[in-house]
Amino acid sequence: MKDFNYYTPKTVKEAVSTLAKLKGDGKIMCGGQSMLLLMKQNMLTPEHVVDIKGISELDYIKYDKEKGLTIGALATHDAVEKSSVIKKNYPVLAEMEDNLAVVQTRNWGTIGGNVCHGDPAADPPSVFIALNAKYRLAGPKGERIVDAGDFYKDYLEVDLAHDEILCEVQVPPIPADTGVAHGKLMAQKGDMGVVGAAASVTIDPSTGVCHDVRIVLTNVASTPFRAKNSEKVLIGKVIDGKLLEEAGMIAAEEVNPPADVHGSEEYRKDMARIFLKRVTGQAFERAKQKK
Ligand SMILES: Cc1cc2nc3c(=O)[nH]c(=O)nc-3n(C[C@H](O)[C@H](O)[C@H](O)COP(=O)(O)OP(=O)(O)OC[C@H]3O[C@@H](n4cnc5c(N)ncnc54)[C@H](O)[C@@H]3O)c2cc1C
Repeated sequence: MKDFNYYTPKTVKEAVSTLAKLKGDGKIMCGGQSMLLLMKQNMLTPEHVVDIKGISELDYIKYDKEKGLTIGALATHDAVEKSSVIKKNYPVLAEMEDNLAVVQTRNWGTIGGNVCHGDPAADPPSVFIALNAKYRLAGPKGERIVDAGDFYKDYLEVDLAHDEILCEVQVPPIPADTGVAHGKLMAQKGDMGVVGAAASVTIDPSTGVCHDVRIVLTNVASTPFRAKNSEKVLIGKVIDGKLLEEAGMIAAEEVNPPADVHGSEEYRKDMARIFLKRVTGQAFERAKQKK
């Protein structure tokens, strides 16, 4: 690994001003779980590393019935998985974390690091987009809020300036009569998904008709893939196996997955179809159970 200068700001303000002074040559590190892998292979060679793991003001998980959930960027995967407010109000997040990585990575890797890395195979961004979450960012000119769905620009590229830091993820309350689910194809538990899916389905409780749905697929494009054309097939109807198959087929046609040792492009397209069906179907069943 190449040598680098190392900075340890203790507040958001200090981190932002350090990054601004480094004029684009500084790189944030938090848990280092993704970054160090790239640095060890010299795929990333920052001259200045700004380690934000000591900014304790960003380490929190808060819940408010009206505003919803806020997860500070420094909250670890382990903290999200074990949080009692998350288990009670957003169980899909705890379920997702249970299948994310190994315990060592969950203990040290953070939500902020995961969502800012911009890996299209990552699990939390898909669930956050399905839950209509927003990200709060801080920079030298103040703060801004970005929809999770607009944050991902390309492979490992996100809407974050060189002197900005992600402060928190804001998840609105889950609407009534809504079911949410996440699932992924893993070679073994805790692996990155070969393909994954997250879905949120809202129904009219008296008729069972779906009036809102958000479906996101992972590892099938250069960013998390929102399956909007599949969603259109389901809105205004009572979801059944035939509709789910149609929605899955549409997504399989539209995605542009990578091919690697874990699966060919063709295999991933088929898994996109299957996981869209399976996970959206599960979200629909959960919405019905809320009646
Ligand atoms: C063995 C292993 C298995 C894994 N399995 C999974 C899996 O199944 N599913 C999954 O989703 N992920 C998986 N991961 C990825 C893991 O979740 C991430 O590595 C981890 O969450 C990243 O957090 P970090 O704090 O270590 O980030 P870092 O590695 O420190 O940073 C990652 C990126 O985010 C940027 N960054 C970090 N924090 C901020 C911030 N607050 N503001 C702005 N930019 C920031 C950094 O500059 C860097 O570009 C796995 C990782 C490993 C090592």
